[in-house]
Amino acid sequence: MALRLPGFLVIAALLGTTGAAAQETQPTPLQRRYQSTVDRIIALALSDSSAYQRLGELVDKFGHRLSGSESLERAITWVRDRMLEDKLDNVRIEPVMVPHWVRGKESAGLVEPRAAPLAMLGLGGSVGTPAGGITAEVLVVNSFDELHTMGDRARGKIVLFDYPFPTNVPAFVGYGRAVRYRVFGAIEASKAGAVASLIRSVASNSIRSPHTGVMRYDSLVTPVPAAALSVEDAMMLHRMQDRGEKIVVHLEMEAQTLPDAKSGNVMGEIQGSQQPNQVVVLGGHIDSWDVGQGAMDDAGGVVAAWEAVRLLKRLGLKPRRTVRVVGWTNEENGLRGGLAYRDAHQAEDHVLAIESDAGAFSPLGVGFEGTPEGLATITEIGAMLRAIGSDRVTPIAGEADISPLKEIGVPTMGLDTDDRRYFWYHHSQGDMLDKLDPAEVTRCAATMAVMAYVVADMETRLPRAGAGK
Ligand SMILES: [Zn+2]
Repeated sequence: MALRLPGFLVIAALLGTTGAAAQETQPTPLQRRYQSTVDRIIALALSDSSAYQRLGELVDKFGHRLSGSESLERAITWVRDRMLEDKLDNVRIEPVMVPHWVRGKESAGLVEPRAAPLAMLGLGGSVGTPAGGITAEVLVVNSFDELHTMGDRARGKIVLFDYPFPTNVPAFVGYGRAVRYRVFGAIEASKAGAVASLIRSVASNSIRSPHTGVMRYDSLVTPVPAAALSVEDAMMLHRMQDRGEKIVVHLEMEAQTLPDAKSGNVMGEIQGSQQPNQVVVLGGHIDSWDVGQGAMDDAGGVVAAWEAVRLLKRLGLKPRRTVRVVGWTNEENGLRGGLAYRDAHQAEDHVLAIESDAGAFSPLGVGFEGTPEGLATITEIGAMLRAIGSDRVTPIAGEADISPLKEIGVPTMGLDTDDRRYFWYHHSQGDMLDKLDPAEVTRCAATMAVMAYVVADMETRLPRAGAGK
């Protein structure tokens, strides 16, 4: 945020005492009931950096956590054991079968106009190349539309989609546009007769780091290998083509999909004192891609949610309804954890589902999807978070693991953070602990703790969103 205001105005704004707006806003009954508890939650959260220390232990001990990997399973067991130490109720791992894709060795190299290695990462779910690799001429296009105007020119070639990440829109909007090439590029390239598909990494900044992520095939179209090049390499190949140079690339990938593997959703809770069957669930996904540490995506989200519940526990708060923290498995390449959680818990009455999966950066507030009355209540709760700047409430939640719950009418909430740097590191080797800040992770935990606690404890339950049962 650019703080161009005079200092006293900044301080006044932080204290919420600027002029008429603050004066005319009297605390509501809900705020009168809960503001002092909210302040205690915030004070305890800010008093130490235990969330960040725990996050560091998780990512440094186990590293990245791809579905099917031993490191994921060891991390899940570790979380369970620590939740038991925290004396949470009903700590358990609920089994989930997950896809098991392995990368194997891989490389890409420029053959013509000169020999040089390219910075690449295979895309998750891709098939491998035949042994010995593929050597083919490259056709660079900007977009699917441009590919569709090329007629037969992609036949037998490697297509490279050089679609720049839009940076003039909010980060997740830009991501939504660019990620189509990662997800569907191999299908479109194959339809055009290409032998492999390359993309410009879906990243809003780059120091020549390739970024992976999930891709798809269509059962009616021949699967071709798919990989990401770094932004810089994709741009270089595009410049070569623009100069009329012939580009030949050698691509070698051992990627393959093995039979489904055992994994699980790990969870613990504070049982509700009066309506234990009404549940506020919060969490993030414990799996990650197989690069970096998956610290930002999404160990930070899991730990912030977990710390939120621990804050309530440490304060001895026992809400009316149950508060449950979950580390969902397999968000990245399957969503099997989120689906299995919904299936296993359909009989329970979920009052709210909260997820943090936009990076545990400085929290700005929450996005909420439910009824208009629910949104009004969440806005009231949000206002109590003004002291730590996370009081903004918007009407879009959009998190993956809780989307199956949304489909059956559960109100959902996503933690909104200052995500401007998220796609610099997302799904790359750069996603390590140092990209997150202790004070910011702490404020994420405090924000989720306040939302979870007040919704779990307030007299009137949050209304269901209406869809489904
Ligand atoms: Zn994620």
